[in-house]
Amino acid sequence: MTVHVLALLGGGLADPEAPLLRVDDLGVTRGDGVFETVLVVDGAPCELEPHLARLARSAAMLDLPAPDLAAWRACAATAIDGWGGGREATQGGGREMVLKLVLTRGIEGTGRVTGFATGSPVPDVLLAQRRDGISVVMLTRGVTPELAGQAPWLLLGAKTLSYATNMAALRHAATRDADDVVFTAPGGAVLEGPTSSVVVAQGSTLRTPPPESGILPGTTQGALFRGAAAAGWETRVEPLTVDDLRAADGVWLASSVRLLARVHTLDGETLPGRGLDLDGLLADAYGWARTG
Ligand code: PLP
Repeated sequence: MTVHVLALLGGGLADPEAPLLRVDDLGVTRGDGVFETVLVVDGAPCELEPHLARLARSAAMLDLPAPDLAAWRACAATAIDGWGGGREATQGGGREMVLKLVLTRGIEGTGRVTGFATGSPVPDVLLAQRRDGISVVMLTRGVTPELAGQAPWLLLGAKTLSYATNMAALRHAATRDADDVVFTAPGGAVLEGPTSSVVVAQGSTLRTPPPESGILPGTTQGALFRGAAAAGWETRVEPLTVDDLRAADGVWLASSVRLLARVHTLDGETLPGRGLDLDGLLADAYGWARTG
């Protein structure tokens, strides 16, 4: 993903192609930091406050200093302003920008965090997944849901910069001709994707696994459930099993930039498409005109 815009926390725009981080920044040497990825459409960030709240929550889990949210809002606005001007029209993402907020523990021994925001176009592969759906394999994460409460040092449910295992899971999925992954726990509980929440529909009920099982509370899932509830759907945050996925009327992976990708194939088996379309519910939650 090419970064087109860079804004510094507490500063202004900077050259995204110039070096920024020191080699001893703990974000680089240990993946010691947190981040958020926010979709911006026509200059309006989706769910910015839930993203900032999650940034603060992740930072607290890592014992990082509490993020100055006013400074982050200003940093995000600077990046969004810097994106304007039409350059994006040629970048495939059209009117959309991927806003990434990155906060690291900074240079060892200084006690000063590093923070910046970047703006990039939406990758074509994600636009295709919104449209065409995805095939998914289930892979174990190897940790039981109870561990989230028992072993806080595992940082389960924090959005840390240590995403190497998540990316490895996606590469493993690719070796099995799948686009993505649903992580499961020993015993068969469904958790989340490496970069997404799992949402299941049964009739007019939507379900998603609870954050207490050591997963990230998804802002997209949250917005979808808000839109669904307003439209009279039932929404439930409760444990899901692998059997629930197979029996559902529809399964989606939800995330900020990809939005909703319908799972059409699970572990090589075609999932029945029962005509449910959740895109309008999410569009309503975001205040977008429905595209039909
Ligand atoms: N779970 C994980 C592990 C993620 O990395 C993400 C987003 O990247 C999500 C869930 C979905 O969160 P959101 O909808 O806020 O993008």
